[in-house]
Amino acid sequence: MSSPSSKSSPRKPKGPHPSDLHPPQPVVAWNDARLPAGWEWDFPARLLPTRRDETSEGLSTRMDSLLVEAIRESYAQTKPGSPTPAMREAVEAFHEVYGQFLHHNISANSIHVSCGRGCSRCCHHFVTSVHAIEVLCFYESIRERNDLESLMEACKKRTEDFEGWKEFCEETYPDQTPSKREDLALEHYYDERNPCPFLAGDGACGVYQARPLTCRMYLASSAPSFCEAENITDLDADVFTIPPDESIAERMARVDRAVDFWGHSPDLYRSLQRLHEWRKRWLDPAQET
Ligand code: SF4
Repeated sequence: MSSPSSKSSPRKPKGPHPSDLHPPQPVVAWNDARLPAGWEWDFPARLLPTRRDETSEGLSTRMDSLLVEAIRESYAQTKPGSPTPAMREAVEAFHEVYGQFLHHNISANSIHVSCGRGCSRCCHHFVTSVHAIEVLCFYESIRERNDLESLMEACKKRTEDFEGWKEFCEETYPDQTPSKREDLALEHYYDERNPCPFLAGDGACGVYQARPLTCRMYLASSAPSFCEAENITDLDADVFTIPPDESIAERMARVDRAVDFWGHSPDLYRSLQRLHEWRKRWLDPAQET
């Protein structure tokens, strides 16, 4: 697939941006709900608030203590850029507890989720908002795969394609804000339908246990066909995310500062590729070709 910068003529700007079509709406039945400060409507998902009830609070406390454990464990790392088994266990447990938090908030508000195994339409997005600790554990889960080099090449290609779209959007939409241009770049990228390199042949995630929070929290209540690129901005499309509490995001940022030795980027593919290069240089020199 050609990169956007190689296209001979610029794409016509599409119709109204999804954020114009779907302004944030009050969510019914979210009594005493809360939203993270400064939340924005990002392409293409709406952000749902979480409930302030005992179960949510308990799960958030558990998530926080697992992250504290991950920080503590990071000090025991003998090889920076290589997580200890206890760090990986803490992150796995964190993801599991987040799953419980997600399910609680979905069922407590009677939201119907239409996502299912093998439906991989959302795996054509450029994956962003990934944490350094997640990238570390993700990389560890694929490090011994025979196709590691080709996976990293695919990550590099995706990053270059996305950069091309960002440049395209800067030139084409000069009057838009940087965050809206970023959303438009994500939208154009999604239109290209490039599957994530970690997607398995049966349409399921090939790194399911290690997939990052951002993949876990992305859900749809509308029919799967609304997640197709041509329908994602339809008024009937309902794609949403339920992020953990703001306090968890703050704790995550601290964990990231403690473990980032390779120049983590919130883009999954760029960060993985950087970590791969960093490890080849500093930790696994025998892998260097
Ligand atoms: S990591 Fe897994 S869930 Fe996330 S986009 Fe890739 S294949 Fe999909």
